[in-house]
Amino acid sequence: MQALVVTPGTADSLELVDLPEPPESEGPVLVESLMVGLCGTDAEIVDGLYGTPPPGQDHLVLGHENLGRVRQAPAETGLSEGDLVVGIVRRPDPVPCPACADGQWDMCRNGRYTERGIKGLHGFARELWRAEPTAMVRLDPALSRLGVLLEPTTIVAKAWEQMERIGRRAWFDPKVAVVTGAGPIGLLAALLGVQRGLEVHVFDLVTDGPKPDLVRDLGAAYHTESVPESGVQGDVLVECTGVPSVVLDVMTHSAPDSITCLTGISGTGKTMPVDVAALNRDQVLSNDVIFGSVNANRGHYTAAAEALCRADPSWLARMVSRTVPLSEFAEAFAPRPEDVKVILGMQV
Ligand code: BGC
Repeated sequence: MQALVVTPGTADSLELVDLPEPPESEGPVLVESLMVGLCGTDAEIVDGLYGTPPPGQDHLVLGHENLGRVRQAPAETGLSEGDLVVGIVRRPDPVPCPACADGQWDMCRNGRYTERGIKGLHGFARELWRAEPTAMVRLDPALSRLGVLLEPTTIVAKAWEQMERIGRRAWFDPKVAVVTGAGPIGLLAALLGVQRGLEVHVFDLVTDGPKPDLVRDLGAAYHTESVPESGVQGDVLVECTGVPSVVLDVMTHSAPDSITCLTGISGTGKTMPVDVAALNRDQVLSNDVIFGSVNANRGHYTAAAEALCRADPSWLARMVSRTVPLSEFAEAFAPRPEDVKVILGMQV
């Protein structure tokens, strides 16, 4: 079968190779890949900056955002041939740590978790993959075209769930949400904010392409000025760029008692001067919470699937700028200015 592989740590090693079908040791459920979504993490892996192959191997099958259809499943798995499924990216560490033992692998304590297509486990950019039934979720057939957006939606489903749980520390009635970045994560964060009935403000630099209209068509406000320039003060803020100056802006320009969730994974090595005392004073005097959020557990997959089912399918479809056949994978990795989400079509 064809598979898209990289040698982690080696830039531009991405290639399409022929691999044997996945061994049964990967799990009893055999799945045919339908689509694989690409994101910044994949680009970093392709650039040799991130990613770890499975133990004893030097290559990694890429792909963590995924959608597939069950080809074979033993009856005891509760899945049947034809079911639409999404494989869960992160698997618990082997110890397991107390968080992983509780099904909260997204909160792994010892860093020994694995992630399909990212860290220590082959991913989904291959014609067939296998998994344990506990490592996948079955989707409503209505999501047959858009289910590939589930994994990025799990990231923001977790972010929103965490903000709401933190909010319960005291009186909390958020009205205004700020989202920085109108890429897929920012757009999905905005979608979930609108679904919660909030007044949502999305900040990005671009003035053309699909992003401004995607934001406006959600009923949210689109801003190209910075958060401080806009005067908007979020009660809840979701930072989706990882850009240091934007991160600082959201940390320092929010409503009292605000909750800020950082989701962007920044490139490191660039420094900027910060008045830490002023930052500290501001956070303390306003009871602000700033926290990071990564990955997602099964509960977030369920919440994300519900959010996608409630969304306007034509709006979700507009997030997918291009579907590129696997054989033309290099095209998919050559960014275009109008790109929002690029998908690999896996049916060869
Ligand atoms: C993935 C997450 C993963 C994170 C860190 C993101 O791109 O969506 O599932 O935990 O990268 O590896």
